[in-house]
Amino acid sequence: MKESKAPQDWYRGQGHWAGVPAAQWQDYRWQLRNRVTTVERLREFIELTPEEEEGCAHANKKLALAVTPYFFNLIDTDDPDCPIRKQLVPRGDEMRVSPEELLDPVGEETAMGVDGLVHRYPDRCLFLVTNMCAAYCRYCTRSRLVSNAEGHDFHPNYENALRYIEEHPEIRDVLLSGGDPLLLSDKKLDYLLGRLRAIPHVDFIRIGSRIPVFLPQRVTPELQDLLRRHGPVWISIHVNHPRECTQELYDAAERLSFAGVPLGNQSVLLRGINDDLETMRELVHRLLRMRVRPYYLYQCDLITGSRHFRADVRKGIDIIRGLRGFTSGYAVPQFVIDAPGGGGKIPVNPEYIEEINDDEIVLRNFAGDIYRYPLRSREPVPAGVGMLV
Ligand SMILES: *Cc1c(COP(=O)(O)O)cnc(C)c1O
Repeated sequence: MKESKAPQDWYRGQGHWAGVPAAQWQDYRWQLRNRVTTVERLREFIELTPEEEEGCAHANKKLALAVTPYFFNLIDTDDPDCPIRKQLVPRGDEMRVSPEELLDPVGEETAMGVDGLVHRYPDRCLFLVTNMCAAYCRYCTRSRLVSNAEGHDFHPNYENALRYIEEHPEIRDVLLSGGDPLLLSDKKLDYLLGRLRAIPHVDFIRIGSRIPVFLPQRVTPELQDLLRRHGPVWISIHVNHPRECTQELYDAAERLSFAGVPLGNQSVLLRGINDDLETMRELVHRLLRMRVRPYYLYQCDLITGSRHFRADVRKGIDIIRGLRGFTSGYAVPQFVIDAPGGGGKIPVNPEYIEEINDDEIVLRNFAGDIYRYPLRSREPVPAGVGMLV
């Protein structure tokens, strides 16, 4: 797949919804109302494989099916292996649970300060503000909480969580997540950001959101204003494959950047979707063109029914090794495993240290060559004339 570098060639248009007036297409409320949420609707566009039929038959018990028309158009409906399709269309494998898999894969429940607030690290917390998303990633790490499937109820109690943050002066960094915080109304977001900004010890606010990817129309002038007013607010978006980097996403990222929002990206390493160097290189380069700095690459959590998504950790390490030094440092994300049971994010890196002792560190560079850096100073000698100038 040789793709154009120019964002203006990434435009996807209205595709299956070609007859819809542009004003509606660009209205995020229309996009939400017209999401593909039933297997019948899916079948109108895609000839489902038996594996997908099986997945759809059970989908709403575990995690709701929903795809915005805009994002649906990125699916190559003729290709059962399409990397977009595999992220959004349920498959039977989701219902098959391996013994190592967990309902709460990264141990969030045991670190809840109050309901809906995970306080794992010393100076920062994760504030789950909604259980709704614009579309549902089939490998969702929080499928136990989001989308209300199978009656999982989650009613974030903002006041309890805000009080917890107010009463914990060690919290200087609050990460809003969910669900997708940018699915909240401007009014609610305004309220939440306002309350957080009013807490003197909170000096860093960020939002984790896939809205710019699933629903770029949501990044309205009003949202720009709001984010600018409460800024600096940082946003981590979630892009997994270069095909998601459309002109529409480019424009939404630009609107966010111009509203003063620094942008990062969090990808999940997904088997058969992005677990190869070529795909990742194309992805991170496109992200940089959109002013988005690749932040984390996650090893897929041990979510129930995720075996078909999980790539070999060694592939992730090889991808990082293939990027570091071969492309801009800004393009290289940190590969991490969010430790099962609640250890938090642990970096997983290719090994560049060959040896370290009291005398020296022996390093291997990106090209495989060996370099040495002394750790022990030797006796100084008088500098010769010319050595110091
Ligand atoms: C990911 C995460 C954070 C933020 O971690 P950073 O490494 O600072 O991005 C905070 N709290 C929880 C519970 C998290 O999972």
